[in-house]
Amino acid sequence: MSKIAFIGLGNMGGPMAKNLVSAGYQVTGFDLIETAINDAKEGGIKISKNAASAAVDAEILISMLPASQHVESLYLEEKLLESIDPSTLIIDCSTIAPETARKVSKEADALGLSMIDAPVSGGVSGAVAGTLSFIVGGKLEYLDRAKPLLQKMGKNIFHAGDNGSGQVAKICNNMLLAIHMCGTAESLALGVKNGLKPQVLSEIMKKSSGGNWSLEVYNPYPGVMEGVPASREYQGGFLNKLMFKDLGLAQEASKDSQTKTPMGDLARKLYEEMIEKGFEDLDFSSIQKLYL
Ligand code: NAD
Repeated sequence: MSKIAFIGLGNMGGPMAKNLVSAGYQVTGFDLIETAINDAKEGGIKISKNAASAAVDAEILISMLPASQHVESLYLEEKLLESIDPSTLIIDCSTIAPETARKVSKEADALGLSMIDAPVSGGVSGAVAGTLSFIVGGKLEYLDRAKPLLQKMGKNIFHAGDNGSGQVAKICNNMLLAIHMCGTAESLALGVKNGLKPQVLSEIMKKSSGGNWSLEVYNPYPGVMEGVPASREYQGGFLNKLMFKDLGLAQEASKDSQTKTPMGDLARKLYEEMIEKGFEDLDFSSIQKLYL
């Protein structure tokens, strides 16, 4: 049975690692937070005393950490890369700056290690259901090696290009997601304040040229759709603070590449307002609150 090391067992990493256990892999994990550790143990994941010991004898090491600084700190400052065996394939699934992904993978390459970036789309529900999309940056031969494992946690696997490209694609996707979520919330509020029922307006726009993912599967207006965060006071899902982080990554990338992203910049300001109002731990569809 292949041994997998899994670093970062939070909202996403926890269920992803559990799916690997269900698929028959022997998973050894590490996290800094006790609740994440206890939850992982219940899911059949063996817990190590640190990341380096989790990595011993692992065929593949996966990391799923909050942001760039955590990835840089783990692999470079804590020198995890230096303790990993060259036979181990490293997959970083965190959403981080493309520049950080390139820096860490370059260092891995210099040490004779194989590394890809594979940020995900699909949220916590996709992580639990094993239906995530993986957006991979790095050598194709490494992706081929990773595929059987990624298929146990996800449905769609894309190759975006070299190291860092997975992150670029993920950032572009999330900027667009934020923009159409804000636009959807804005249109729904305008219709409701002008006398329409949100259900009726949603049905009309879904089948018209305004139709989009936020309307079809993630309606932000309370009471329109069952099973989405808007119907449970925006609890769970993809948090405002993570969307704000991703929009910050988009802004950095736009500056670095001198690309104009006025819509992305405005969406970031709206999410910043949500955080200032204390809504950082609500789902990102709660942007609707700004318009009610
Ligand atoms: P999370 O905060 O729930 O989990 C991250 C975990 O990493 C935490 O448990 C934390 O203790 C752990 N950690 C941090 N530094 C560590 C270290 N040095 N060693 C071991 N563990 C460490 O975050 P999450 O929601 O699981 O998100 C993880 C990543 O996935 C983020 O980059 C996020 O942007 C991305 N993402 C999240 C979602 C979502 O819906 N939550 C969707 C797509 C992508």
